Amino acid sequence: ASLFGAVDMAPRDPILGITEAYNADKNPNKVNLGVGVYYDDNGKVPLLECVRKAEAQLLEKAAPRTYLPIDGLAAYDKAVQELVFGADSAVVQEKRAITVQAIGGTGALKIGADFLKRFAPDSQVWISDPSWENHRALFESAGFVVNSYPYYDPATRGVNFAGMLGALQSMPAGSIVLLHACCHNPTGADLTDEQWKQVIEVVTGRGLIPFLDMAYQGFGDGIDADGRVVRQFAQAGGPLFVSNSFSKSFSLYGERVGALSIVAASTEEAARVLSQLKRVVRTNYSNPPLHGGQVVATALATPELRALWEEELAAMRVRIREMRQALVAKLKAKVPNQNFDFVITQRGMFSYSGLTKAQVERLRNEYSVYAVDTGRICVAALNSKNIDYVVDAIAKVL
Ligand code: PLP
Repeated sequence: ASLFGAVDMAPRDPILGITEAYNADKNPNKVNLGVGVYYDDNGKVPLLECVRKAEAQLLEKAAPRTYLPIDGLAAYDKAVQELVFGADSAVVQEKRAITVQAIGGTGALKIGADFLKRFAPDSQVWISDPSWENHRALFESAGFVVNSYPYYDPATRGVNFAGMLGALQSMPAGSIVLLHACCHNPTGADLTDEQWKQVIEVVTGRGLIPFLDMAYQGFGDGIDADGRVVRQFAQAGGPLFVSNSFSKSFSLYGERVGALSIVAASTEEAARVLSQLKRVVRTNYSNPPLHGGQVVATALATPELRALWEEELAAMRVRIREMRQALVAKLKAKVPNQNFDFVITQRGMFSYSGLTKAQVERLRNEYSVYAVDTGRICVAALNSKNIDYVVDAIAKVL
């Protein structure tokens, strides 16, 4: 028998499947709201000016393409750490935080999961219900049992906070809790400051291990506001894992730029953690790619480029907000008996729109408007040219 005779076909990635169907669609009015990518008002993935300028500087230098250290470009790791925790934070000042360049946010989650499996092998992992679909798969593939805690409440279109807190209060000590630092994917529903305070108290008080995934810093309320939860966790003491990604915030999807940061109890503990994390990296892919890390490090460390980045990121954030507002206003005009205000409260690229699977199917089949079966739409794929068509289609299937 052939070696591959017993290999079954793996299930298709549901979101990539949507894009394939969209690409094959001949309708000139087609709109893909199934993606997880920011598009500008012309429907294009932007190349940020701060990236173009940083790349021009790098090209000018024409430096050789040597290997990076296992933990990545030092200037990048430093810049990320200061961005994530704040340069003047105690964990940075006391050298209790370590940061390792990773292959996007996904790679950061993966090396974090592999590290945890070695040093907390009996812990179980808890993710929000629902969560980014890769969270479960990533931690399961690292060998963990993955459970979910209540999160989204379809009745209020917000967070089932009592359910979430109750679950945190009954998890065994040492459980690994995956939390979205901001701009929850897929729902767009975030915790309030007051709710975060309670979560931090329970997580720290009960000896749970927080793993914050921050893939959308700057897309919610701003770079600092979105990072606040990370800093509050760092201040609260206890171990902390933070994965972050520049895929969206620098529009550098294909360059795979992210990082994993870990906060330990002392400088000496942090050094041991780093040494072990480097082994995880070394046995996975040896060291990270050069280009994206150099671009982000250059942009973050050059005052002029840094200011430009902050402006460009703010423009993306504002455009998404405007699309949320326009979507609600236009839907109100067409479907006056329904309230869509939750779309404005939601944060980040996504909205759990409340559209049912049957409605999503009709949108696709009758109007070539593609959304995820769960009703998740990417607000960042709406623009001034397609929004009226999308609103018309939604009004017709409601
Ligand atoms: N975490 C969340 C919540 C995400 O939505 C994503 C990307 O969509 C990632 C992590 C992974 O980011 P990256 O593309 O940088 O691997």
